[in-house]
Amino acid sequence: MANDDQFKKVISHAKEYGYVFQSSEIYDGLSAVYDYAQNGAELKKNIRDYWWKAMVQMNDNIVGIDAAIFMHPTTWKASGHVDAFNDPLIDNKDSKKRYRADVLVEDYCAKIENKIEKEVKKAEKRFGEAFNKEEFISTNGRVLGYQEKIDTILKRLGQSLEKEDLADVKALIEELEIADPLTGSRNWTDVKQFNLMFGTKLGASADSAMDLYLRPETAQGIFVNFLNVQKTGRMKIPFGIAQTGKAFRNEIVARQFIFRMREFEQMEMQFFIKPGTQKEWFNHWKETRLKWHLSLGMGQDNYRFHDHEKLAHYADAATDIEFKFPFGFKELEGIHSRTDFDLKQHEEFSGKKLQYFDHEDNANYTPYVLETSIGLDRMFLAVFSNALEDETLDDGSVRTVLKLPAVLAPTKAAVLPLVKKDGLPEIAKTIIDDLKWDFNVAYDEKDAVGRRYRRQDANGTPFCITVDHDTLEDNTVTIRHRDTMEQQRVKIEDLRDIIKKEVDVKEWLQKM
Ligand code: ATP
Repeated sequence: MANDDQFKKVISHAKEYGYVFQSSEIYDGLSAVYDYAQNGAELKKNIRDYWWKAMVQMNDNIVGIDAAIFMHPTTWKASGHVDAFNDPLIDNKDSKKRYRADVLVEDYCAKIENKIEKEVKKAEKRFGEAFNKEEFISTNGRVLGYQEKIDTILKRLGQSLEKEDLADVKALIEELEIADPLTGSRNWTDVKQFNLMFGTKLGASADSAMDLYLRPETAQGIFVNFLNVQKTGRMKIPFGIAQTGKAFRNEIVARQFIFRMREFEQMEMQFFIKPGTQKEWFNHWKETRLKWHLSLGMGQDNYRFHDHEKLAHYADAATDIEFKFPFGFKELEGIHSRTDFDLKQHEEFSGKKLQYFDHEDNANYTPYVLETSIGLDRMFLAVFSNALEDETLDDGSVRTVLKLPAVLAPTKAAVLPLVKKDGLPEIAKTIIDDLKWDFNVAYDEKDAVGRRYRRQDANGTPFCITVDHDTLEDNTVTIRHRDTMEQQRVKIEDLRDIIKKEVDVKEWLQKM
């Protein structure tokens, strides 16, 4: 399936099966704002729990907090967001459409990258089993030429953004002859900066109201609480503070469904370390976070690191974990070595000391910080889009199946009486009453059982449990596995253990 078609299918499936709705749809929606529906809310909660357990529950030196969305406005002066949280924008004079200048250039490079992928596929076909991808990429003249072009462009973009040389960003767009993706026009304005924070007011009267911002990241709620947590939790460096919560950005080019939203949720962890150890911890968290992703079994080839050329004002190293979304490899998670920038800034703006006394060294210092920051909505999109498949079966028919990792699936099992009589619905309901203490389970009695299986496949439910007339005799049921469609006859009393083995967080996290 072409990538565009696959992405459209993801969006419509998310709506049809109660995962994601456009916000205020009856009023024609609000751009780049989405609501999570009955199944979506469960999937999102399960992803959040999977992250929280891996971070907080499994690490005795990481604790979690839940800071407010509103913060004292000076926070955002100190963090640099008032002065530097900008995107470089460019308008097309003919179409009147606005774009992020850096994204236009990156999309141009993505097209060259597609050419590399095509060369690889062609060679793969030609050489068959003997094909060595890595060797091909590092020796083929055409591929090397493409890669060099990408590297040169991205290096120049990075340097120009770093120096805030916006004229050169425009020059680059012109030299590459980048056109408006919608209209093909190359009639561009100059590039200018645009602040991404949403402003609001606190207080009733116009005179005394205080200007506030909706937080654009959750991280600052952690930094301002660093000393409170360290002291009350008697935390010793190295230690981490984790948090999940909403963040808001007035994204100009908000598109690609829940990939880039104006209101979204982050899962962040700030790890406080001794200055000088940041390189070692950067590598540690890079590796640990990738392992967390891989534990979900969504395919090693769907991930890659992208080390940053252009570093944010607070960082001395940064990398993205990119995921292969239906529209290509894009950032899913950021890992940043933030130095002591944030704590030092807050010390300066608040006049309060935010230091740590290291008993081993008998010295005070401002800790360095290693951050891992992942968008919950982007993770949702990664999981959901990767799971959706149109699978051709042996008999030539096609089934739509949502192969969500069982640990994350909103409903773990559906219980289906074969017919709506003879006492079968009553037994099905007893099974549900028992299983619901441990799992989300659903009841479905409408339509032929084959259709009900298909409905649960498309819904992502890992197990279907069918109650039939034999159940009346011997207390056994059929359990059907979503991915293999294999069916087993099992005792009702064994159901809990069978399901638990497949959906238990412990079983999954142990793969890390
Ligand atoms: P991008 O380059 O895509 O704008 P970013 O580098 O600004 O992202 P960070 O500030 O590092 O992102 O935020 C950390 C994570 O938060 C990102 O990796 C992403 O998963 C998520 N995120 C950021 N902006 C959005 C958004 N507008 N909608 C959804 N998720 C987002």
